Amino acid sequence: MMAMSSQGAFLHTPEFEHNLNNLAAVAIGAGLGLAPGQELVMTATLDALSLVRRITEQAYKVGASLVTTLFTDEASTLLRYRHGTEATFDAASGWLYEGMAQAYKNGAARLAITGNDPSLLSKEDPAKVSRVNRATSKAYRPALELITRHDINWTIVACATPAWAKAMFPDLAADDALAKLWQGIFAASRTNVADPVAAWKEHDAKLHARAEWLNNKRYYALHFKGPGTDLRVGMADDHLWLGGGTTAHNGLYCIPNMPTEEVFSTPHKDRVDGTVTSTKPLSHMGTLIEGICVRFEGGRIVDAKATRGGEVLQKMIETDEGARRLGEVALVPHSSPIASSGLLFLNTLFDENAACHIALGQAYSTCVKDGNSLTPEQLAARGANTSLIHVDWMIGSNKIDVDGISASGASEPVMRAGEWV
Ligand code: ZN
Ligand code: ZN
Repeated sequence: MMAMSSQGAFLHTPEFEHNLNNLAAVAIGAGLGLAPGQELVMTATLDALSLVRRITEQAYKVGASLVTTLFTDEASTLLRYRHGTEATFDAASGWLYEGMAQAYKNGAARLAITGNDPSLLSKEDPAKVSRVNRATSKAYRPALELITRHDINWTIVACATPAWAKAMFPDLAADDALAKLWQGIFAASRTNVADPVAAWKEHDAKLHARAEWLNNKRYYALHFKGPGTDLRVGMADDHLWLGGGTTAHNGLYCIPNMPTEEVFSTPHKDRVDGTVTSTKPLSHMGTLIEGICVRFEGGRIVDAKATRGGEVLQKMIETDEGARRLGEVALVPHSSPIASSGLLFLNTLFDENAACHIALGQAYSTCVKDGNSLTPEQLAARGANTSLIHVDWMIGSNKIDVDGISASGASEPVMRAGEWV
């Protein structure tokens, strides 16, 4: 056995145990808001087993009726690409997603643990990756809709895994890398404070206040300006800004992403114009896409390139018509704890909370007034986009200014050098 360095030793300290237990406690208590007697469906990779067990323990302690965890294994995923027959890459486990949808309809809560190798599929055939993604998105859609419409309480939390840590810190020894990633997750997830559930409630209240401020402003458009970016994002009619937690239609309050630092809304699918350049690499389904630069005309991407992963980007925006249009715009100050950690997590849950971002694809109907009671046609008429995909990528930095433009055309500063004005 190799001698442990000081960083890796963190994994064997009471402090680590304390933080891991706190992460499970905030996941159930603040993130998911699991109700006594409620069923829980959890998904995780096998590498997240230690966190799965802590969360399962917390869930039963607050009275969960049944906890079911669906595990995946990244090595097994790769075996499909290496040895699967060419004709089979459009197959997806529809029966599994139908079962998950059924569980949600029966009242189950949903917790996803993220923690993946960001470049798992980077050496695989992009055509196969795209076929799998498309088939999976399609099969998953009915279950996903119950989540995006907030029919149930749900949340996503992160677990450090060896492959993820290695991708972030390729020069460190395995244990040191894992310890460093855990420390980043704990800091961003606010677990290293005396009362983490109370800290989350306070943070949540601040996000709500920021969203309310933007809702009172009723901007017609936002204008992003910075190096490689001059983008005007028209907002959907009757758009709503959201941030932090929300009461799901089952009456339970949940904070869907842990961490979360963003306030976000629905842009108008036909009113986005100009050029935008990504400020952080995007880890998309196991491939890194860097230096994205796209030009919008009338809401539609008419030109897209990337310095790395351009082929995957092209395939992504060719998924369907909505994949070339915006479904989300989000504002995050550059001083957020994730941004100030200076870490690039190569994971959207973290990186999207480090910077202002946009998402190509599906819009959140909850970001349109009375959105959940509108028909798809009514939502589209207000400017909300539809697509099989929803892919967030970062456009914010300390060099980006954001202006709010009113319906009359008057412009006022919203963010300067990445901070709220
Ligand atoms: Zn977002
Ligand atoms: Zn998003």
